[in-house]
Amino acid sequence: MGTDLLAICYLVASVTFILGLKMLSDPATARRGNLIAAGGMGVAIFGTIFLYRDRGLALHNLGWIAAALVIGGTAGLLAAKKVKMTAMPEMVSLFNGMGGACAALISISEFGRLGAVAADRGELLIILAGVIIGSVSFAGSMIAWGKLNGRIKDVVFRGQHALNLFFLVVVVGAAVYLMVGPQNIATVLFYSIVVMALIYGVMFVLPIGGADMPVVISLLNSFTGVAAACGGFLYDNKAMLTGGILVGAAGTVLTILMCKAMNRSLKNVLIGSFGATASTAGAAGGGKEQGVYREISLSDAAMVLTYARKVMIVPGYGLAVAQAQHACHELEKILTEKGVEVKYAIHPVAGRMPGHMNVLLAEADVSYDNLLELEQANEEFPTTDVVVVLGANDVVNPAAKTDPASPIYGMPILDVELAKACIVNKRSMKPGYAGIENDLFFRPKTSMLFGDAKKVLQDLIGEIKNL
Ligand code: NDP
Repeated sequence: MGTDLLAICYLVASVTFILGLKMLSDPATARRGNLIAAGGMGVAIFGTIFLYRDRGLALHNLGWIAAALVIGGTAGLLAAKKVKMTAMPEMVSLFNGMGGACAALISISEFGRLGAVAADRGELLIILAGVIIGSVSFAGSMIAWGKLNGRIKDVVFRGQHALNLFFLVVVVGAAVYLMVGPQNIATVLFYSIVVMALIYGVMFVLPIGGADMPVVISLLNSFTGVAAACGGFLYDNKAMLTGGILVGAAGTVLTILMCKAMNRSLKNVLIGSFGATASTAGAAGGGKEQGVYREISLSDAAMVLTYARKVMIVPGYGLAVAQAQHACHELEKILTEKGVEVKYAIHPVAGRMPGHMNVLLAEADVSYDNLLELEQANEEFPTTDVVVVLGANDVVNPAAKTDPASPIYGMPILDVELAKACIVNKRSMKPGYAGIENDLFFRPKTSMLFGDAKKVLQDLIGEIKNL
């Protein structure tokens, strides 16, 4: 009876995971989807605690389990409540690392319980896959977390990729040897594999530049999913299996989509050291003479916007930093009241994580109907009177189309220059994440409106009200 009920719990959980994932694909249902999937996870966890039986015996160590749930749950809840939107990729990375560690620990404890001799070859294969992928994901995610919060710098040296490849071959080779070789060294070999997989995880992420970190996190996320699915196989746990497969597949799809949005191959992301090259370019290019730029005053900007027929707002990372989404929506409302058509042009990699701008604007209740994707926005720029670029830089950099030497060359950009005029708000002439100059700021149609996005928007709204 208990076993049947547990199977139903796992079925319910699996269905909620699929439903939740589907709902996450639309900003309007994403929050609910997340809650539904979390509810399903709760059913699976408590079902396992109270209904699981092994040869008729219930789970013991309930005190430890409860303590882990309370400590882990509280830490997770506090971290999620406190985290700033711009630090979200860091947190995702940290949480993903914990998932990888859990998957690796499951494999380690199962190896300890079964041993290499007692375990059948299929089980041993899954244990090894779980421990290798989980350890790589854990170590790699920790490095990614350190890089995103600036504690760890890129480490690049000659022959690094060859060394990494060598490490990977050694780890896989040792795993194969453990499966077929003499059993007396199996335990030593197993723990050596754990250590080598951890080192490989560190080495694999160390050279990858900061700008590529979200892609790497998404890839590591898919690794964690696969490692968790290995745990599902080991325990014959359908919820863990479904959850792991979904995370693995979703992470892979997201990785591919992000690479496409940046017009780069995964191989190029992993061994191209884009961020490292880019920051060097930025350091060198920072002082490069590009020509003169034109500034616009708040009152002139207010006038231009009020008398426009159609305005397109391009939000970027700076809008998130300034937490100016509410002021931005306020500007949209006041312009709409004055008869101006206002829309938003959303670049797929604007900000620092996929969907960053959608989430940010949803927070301020901006209608999804007013958000245009890259292709749509590019079609509408020629009929737009004024584009307002708010804290965006790389996603509107024409070098992506014109300069083959640029690290962002090939990335599709928002063609804001096709509009009649372009007002760019940022605090200085400093480059964006890719660390490169932006020729757009020096073009004749562009005028710069310097200052923190929130303050500028608030002042602009004040000016428009007074017109
Ligand atoms: P950028 O990082 O290119 O530029 C942001 C700009 O915002 C900066 O130039 C900065 O200039 C300005 N800024 C910072 N703070 C403020 C503030 N308080 N008020 C006003 N402006 C501010 O951002 P984009 O969104 O254009 O591009 C995103 C970049 O991140 C791309 O290179 C993309 O490839 C990369 N990336 C994004 C991923 C994603 O999933 N979204 C994933 C991987 C990479 P200043 O300092 O002068 O104010």
